[in-house]
Amino acid sequence: MRLQISLSLSLILATTSVARNCGNTQEPIELIEQAIRFNSHNRQTAGQSGGASIGRPNHESSKTSTPRTQEVNLYMHNIYINETAAGAYISEEDLTKQWRVMNENYASTGISFVLKNITHTQNKSWALAIRNGTTELKMKQTLRMGGYEDLNLYFRVLGRGFFGDFAPNSEGFWQDGCDILHTTIPGGPQVNYNEGKTATHETGHWLGLLHPFSGGCRGGDYIDDTPAEETASYGCPVGKDTCRGDMFPGLDPIHNFMDYAYE
Ligand SMILES: [Zn+2]
Repeated sequence: MRLQISLSLSLILATTSVARNCGNTQEPIELIEQAIRFNSHNRQTAGQSGGASIGRPNHESSKTSTPRTQEVNLYMHNIYINETAAGAYISEEDLTKQWRVMNENYASTGISFVLKNITHTQNKSWALAIRNGTTELKMKQTLRMGGYEDLNLYFRVLGRGFFGDFAPNSEGFWQDGCDILHTTIPGGPQVNYNEGKTATHETGHWLGLLHPFSGGCRGGDYIDDTPAEETASYGCPVGKDTCRGDMFPGLDPIHNFMDYAYE
């Protein structure tokens, strides 16, 4: 994505775990500063023209004007060990379902994803490649498609985190994209996280969104219409309200795609 600061995200979500733990646990200070500047700019713009908003895919009380539309080319890659679900194989049909879920989740933002290609690669070392290693880089140098403004999703067993502003053909350029745990696709075996919203969450980071609890009660995700939240939400904590008082209206945004609650 051709943003000044962009992210590629990983998901650390072991099949035995019961909570989402995104690879982006330490949000870079540069990205937070970018979010604050963007928020400030939006406030000024809102004062002049009624405002515009992107990247709030699950906020029911948004009162912004019609969002701009933006199409993002999407390349989906499945790197698997063998042609079974346990071997991280995902059929083209299931990947297509995942793509549809992303478009449904982002429909209210004006952002849509144009599915350009699906690839399947049987390669055990690539499927299991650890973060920042030469194996992972080799995989992405081989599989990555499109330019910096295009999204590549890698559905495999392990993921990685990375961010920055990258020159074409730099290592960061090749690493740009999101790694998604293969069990989180719609209908997948990841209990409570199998509606395809993990890809929505990680793509949100790629687009520049932070977690709603990133800056605590006073910072949140630096977007005005996200209710304040001090801590991540796990499970289904209906009524959770970690930021109280007149300054912090609303309950915690447990339904926000960028939180950790069950899908
Ligand atoms: Zn995250």
